[in-house]
Amino acid sequence: MILPPAMLGMLGGGQLGRFFVIAAHEMGYKVTVLDPDQNSPAGKIADVHICAKYDDAAALKQIAETCQAITTEFENVPAATLKTLAQSVPVRPSADAVAIAQHRVSEKNFLKEAGLPVAPYAVIDAESDLPADDSEIYPAILKVARFGYDGKGQARVTNLSEAKAAFAAFSEEECVLEKMLKLDYEVSVVLARDVNGHVATFPTAENSHLNGILDVSIVPARGSDAVNHQAQKLAISVAEKLQYTGVLGVEFFVCDGELLVNEIAPRPHNSGHYTLDACITNQFEQQVRVMTGLPLGSSRQHSPAVMVNLLGDIWPNEAPQIEPAWQLVLGLPSLKMHLYGKAEARAGRKMGHFTVLSTSRDDAIKLAMQVRSELK
Ligand code: ADP
Ligand code: MG
Repeated sequence: MILPPAMLGMLGGGQLGRFFVIAAHEMGYKVTVLDPDQNSPAGKIADVHICAKYDDAAALKQIAETCQAITTEFENVPAATLKTLAQSVPVRPSADAVAIAQHRVSEKNFLKEAGLPVAPYAVIDAESDLPADDSEIYPAILKVARFGYDGKGQARVTNLSEAKAAFAAFSEEECVLEKMLKLDYEVSVVLARDVNGHVATFPTAENSHLNGILDVSIVPARGSDAVNHQAQKLAISVAEKLQYTGVLGVEFFVCDGELLVNEIAPRPHNSGHYTLDACITNQFEQQVRVMTGLPLGSSRQHSPAVMVNLLGDIWPNEAPQIEPAWQLVLGLPSLKMHLYGKAEARAGRKMGHFTVLSTSRDDAIKLAMQVRSELK
């Protein structure tokens, strides 16, 4: 077990890293953050911020020599970086697991080979791989294999000529073409799995997206107990087939009452932010626990919760220095606000979130929706 006040290493300095720093600090650990951005949300509050690229040899040497374990908040850290670090210091999750999750083709192939249900898809390496007009895959979504997030690097296409145009617009980078499904709704499960294979799952969250970006999470999800339970089972199965150690987010589509795995995130997940306020142990503390070899904390939820993301869109376009009407949020006794300390508000950029807690899920939804619409 690695005990406080040991120094822990975090690759990535975004809001997920920032919550990790806060959790680690509360437990008495110190944190070194590696992130190339001078103003990264996590770097600003870390004990040490190494401001360098993720493949900078001197930076990797420094973090490996000064930290007793290393984790990541960013699935696009080069897998080679994790491999190098793992030669001298425990790295959780492993480079192999991150490598699968950071590439849509390996992710889909892994899920399919593991016998997990996924949407119909085709791997597109070259224009000639695009299915003909009579293919059942259309209408479909073309997704770049690497570096896509929050709906970026995706195009909806209804036939071959649109698919060709979209593929060209993505510079013919490797893609996955996925059948566009009629979703009943979406859910996710965040879990932690430790080095001994013990798993703690957080309750199934019901997620709605706006323009491909998570908007609202309702927990527990309102769907049937059977679907919620099956999502938990499938998420555990993903973690086990990956021999995963760390915190994992698994996103699902619900289609005709059946679950399909959409994607996996080898890190805490936006839909797990409610755990900060509504669970005995939050997802970031679990991340600290796995990497330090502590036993997992209880993931029990003590209060129904609704989380709403705060995007840069709610800052006035013409005067971004004017803050949204925070008194609407901060004046409410059962609402917890979290801002990430990002200097610049941009459309679609995740600036913060709030979570409404209540003894009644319906009341939490009502209040959250009311505040959400007042902020717009
Ligand atoms: P990202 O990495 O941007 O989160 P996702 O593949 O999860 O990429 O897509 C973002 C959102 O777009 C999903 O949560 C879902 O709402 C919608 N979406 C993605 N793929 C499909 C699909 N095959 N059918 C219907 N909706 C989809
Ligand atoms: Mg997603």
